[in-house]
Amino acid sequence: MEGNAEKLVIIGSGPAGLTAAIYGCRADLQPLVFTGTKYGGQLMVTSEVENFPGFPDPVLGPDLIGKMRAQAERLGARLVQEDVVEVDFKKYPFEIRTGTGVTRALSVVVATGANPRRLNLESEMRLMGKGVSNCAVCDGFFFRGKKVAVVGGGDTAMEEATFLTKFASTVQVIHRRDELRASAALKKEADENPKISFIWNSAVTEVIGSGKVQGVKVRNLKTGAENELTVDGLFVAIGYEPNTDVFRGQLELDPKGYIVVKNHTESSVPGVFVAGDVHDFRYRQAITAAADGCKALLDAERFVKQKLETAISIR
Ligand code: NAP
Repeated sequence: MEGNAEKLVIIGSGPAGLTAAIYGCRADLQPLVFTGTKYGGQLMVTSEVENFPGFPDPVLGPDLIGKMRAQAERLGARLVQEDVVEVDFKKYPFEIRTGTGVTRALSVVVATGANPRRLNLESEMRLMGKGVSNCAVCDGFFFRGKKVAVVGGGDTAMEEATFLTKFASTVQVIHRRDELRASAALKKEADENPKISFIWNSAVTEVIGSGKVQGVKVRNLKTGAENELTVDGLFVAIGYEPNTDVFRGQLELDPKGYIVVKNHTESSVPGVFVAGDVHDFRYRQAITAAADGCKALLDAERFVKQKLETAISIR
């Protein structure tokens, strides 16, 4: 029935995809991993990682990915540095198309991740990892006793701001409107925190600093007035874009484009499993993505075993 289909194709090569690959090898599914042309995901633009267990000294994000990749390859995973451009999950075996051809698969793990939205300022990109961050849980620790600003008015911005008050002396939230989008509970928590203040109707127009952040330029969007804030860190928390364009019309997505998951890892198509930030907008950590990759693989393994047993009993 399955012809020359792969037992398992993994799409994505961040901690979720590479952990699925490691477990896939151990389950003898000989995983084929489409890593994407820009492999590695968000850790490739992260400097020091201090919260991944097993690394008593800080490890650079790209080095951590390199180690996961080496582990997967040593165990026998085949990594192909290509982007998936189209999938057909209505056929079985599933079809996955890249620039060089079509691969058929008995099971798929989707681990394509999400990218933080950027302000799209040259200075933001230049100072990324040098005071500009997208992750308070990862980097908040470096701002003990310092002044920081957070951009955004959603749940993430409120969570980041509240988390940062554990370390920072002051947290100024800069929001483009005069009303928060965040849920009532997170709003209240931020409102009641004496270290948090709000700058309404405002946008960051430039991050100031050469080797590290020294401040931000803020424009009032109602009056046009511009002033400078002295801060040591800027946390950009204006939402994420899940990488799900190729799955539109194939898998159920929520209104923000995240893949809808039930029973931990199952997508709307049996046999297609999901791991990491492409569905998980809540935790978004390397370690939770890795754990998700493990879970997705264990479920894929069960699925493939059942398919192969059914095929044998029909013959
Ligand atoms: P979000 O809800 O899309 O909010 C993004 C915020 O950033 C909005 O306030 C938006 O302003 C602002 N923004 C967007 N683009 C901007 C730009 N270019 N410049 C300046 N500001 C900009 O994103 P999120 O907060 O990351 O949340 C994503 C999803 O995860 C939501 O469904 C959220 O409920 C969920 N979440 C839940 C939890 C929780 O339950 N604990 C925690 C985190 C996230 P406007 O308001 O003007 O549009």
